[in-house]
Amino acid sequence: MESSEQFLPVSRPSISEEDINAVATVLRSGWITTGPVNAELEQHFCETVGSQYAVALSSATAGMHLLLHTLDIGPGDEVITPSMTWVSTVNLIVMTGAKPIFVDVERNTLMTSARLIEPLINARTRLIVPVHFAGAALDLNPLRALAEQYSLPLVEDAAHAIGTSYRGDPIGRRGTAIFSMHPIKNITTGEGGMFCTDDEHLAERIRRLKFHGLGVDAFDRKTHGRAPQAEVLEPGFKYNLPDMNAALGIGQLSRLKAMNQRRTDLAVTYRQLLAEVDEVTPLGFPDYPFKHAWHLFIIRLDIEKACMSRDDFMTALKQRGIGTGLHFRAVHTQKYYREQMPALAGSLPNTEWNSERICSLPLFPDMDDADAHRVVTAIKSILKENKR
Ligand SMILES: *Cc1c(COP(=O)(O)O)cnc(C)c1O
Repeated sequence: MESSEQFLPVSRPSISEEDINAVATVLRSGWITTGPVNAELEQHFCETVGSQYAVALSSATAGMHLLLHTLDIGPGDEVITPSMTWVSTVNLIVMTGAKPIFVDVERNTLMTSARLIEPLINARTRLIVPVHFAGAALDLNPLRALAEQYSLPLVEDAAHAIGTSYRGDPIGRRGTAIFSMHPIKNITTGEGGMFCTDDEHLAERIRRLKFHGLGVDAFDRKTHGRAPQAEVLEPGFKYNLPDMNAALGIGQLSRLKAMNQRRTDLAVTYRQLLAEVDEVTPLGFPDYPFKHAWHLFIIRLDIEKACMSRDDFMTALKQRGIGTGLHFRAVHTQKYYREQMPALAGSLPNTEWNSERICSLPLFPDMDDADAHRVVTAIKSILKENKR
């Protein structure tokens, strides 16, 4: 029975003995919240992606919240972002009182573009937040030109893009990009985010706002505690990353290249094996030079040809011991947004088409080739059985 095989999850963090020891060292050190290990992780991150400033946070969502706060976005403002994204960005926009303006995506890459965004810009537009999708890179040159032309901030949702490059430049090297270190992402700190920017003032403001609006972190190198002179410079949040989490990130980051290479090899295997399955099409690649981080391996199910819904397809894989993911159910099709913005139904054809057909297959560095074979064998058998 196939179900007696071990369950293959859609993702699993890759944790080494060194990672575990690094966390244990922090736990034994007497200082477990934000401190010297955070500073070390930020420095490693800057070196890895080539960014000038990096601020470690408790999540990428926290980074987006701080960003919206620094831009003073609120009622009457509009923020352009895809509906094909994680809900966090849109939730935050709505909670500031601003209006999310959903931009469609290209049908085969799930990424938006300057061409799709430009018609949505008006006098109320305050910010553009495109998403590097699945580990591929947005076409940044036209996006940067557009942002400059309209004097709008462009902030890249880089949650999927740790290790991605665009025209030879790592994502995060230029401009402002927010990375996630949630356990599903290419590297993890348990929960965590990294705010990378080349804007010194923005970096300073984010650093201050992440910890109560104090000018300093809790940790002071000399007193090994809070500097007594620290005082509130402006009201802030509590979005700092504990050192026990940061310790995990340092080891993860040192293995990023090897882990992404393993993801790439698995993706190549999947693409070869799936080439003969007519009912399933992987995402396409953009036509400009980029390096893929292979955060996700997403396929689209031909629901007409397969005579089966995507949800039933996912259930059938689960019954065969294989986990899948949905990245993402379009935000505007979820209950709250359907009810609040009913006029949007049908307005984003490529987003909606994909939202009903996409499915993420298992992809993580500790998977072996046999696992990828097992997934494709299961897919073939599901499709065959369904036709009988
Ligand atoms: C994971 C993810 C986020 C949020 O990251 P957190 O660290 O969990 O807050 C934001 N955007 C996208 C596209 C994501 O996949």
